[in-house]
Amino acid sequence: MLGVERILSINTVGSLKEYIEPGRFFIPQDFIEFTKSRPSTYYDGENNKVMHIDLSEPYCPEVVSILRDILDRRGYPYSEGVYICTEGPRFETKAEIKFYRSLGDVVGMTGYPEVALARELGLCYSSLCTVTNYAAGISKDRLTVDEVFDVVKKMEEKLVNTVEDFIEHPHTREKSCQCAEIPKYCTVK
Ligand SMILES: [Zn+2]
Repeated sequence: MLGVERILSINTVGSLKEYIEPGRFFIPQDFIEFTKSRPSTYYDGENNKVMHIDLSEPYCPEVVSILRDILDRRGYPYSEGVYICTEGPRFETKAEIKFYRSLGDVVGMTGYPEVALARELGLCYSSLCTVTNYAAGISKDRLTVDEVFDVVKKMEEKLVNTVEDFIEHPHTREKSCQCAEIPKYCTVK
């Protein structure tokens, strides 16, 4: 309704890999979701309409490359990989983390279904994650919410700088990606 064309989502994640240290940024290249009760489509069968949206490249490659450019120029360390989305709000068990670790690189609760909903609407979507902790069983200590908020606080300035750079970036408003076209090729039945 506002005419938004691109979304930069900010998400907090736990690391599933030792080398993805708390205090780094993370840019998802792909995701796997284990959510249970979240509406994840605008085509919910009403009027018999269903959309099978293509998510073979869920995050806008142009927005991702703008983010890389900003983080490189700022010298902020970041990693890329697969985002695992859980339902929450509880943290994961050690057994769950062992399983997720075999599938992905970070775990969070807020990165889905927005990514799929944005694609249905033809909006560019990318996520900038702050790595705030190691997931259960990867860190030695018990995970606390204070620990997460401490790191969020420490990363706040870098995060604000990155978002401001994103808004000002010369390529943010120049679109040559396919995000807006994909829904046109996906079947609505
Ligand atoms: Zn795009």
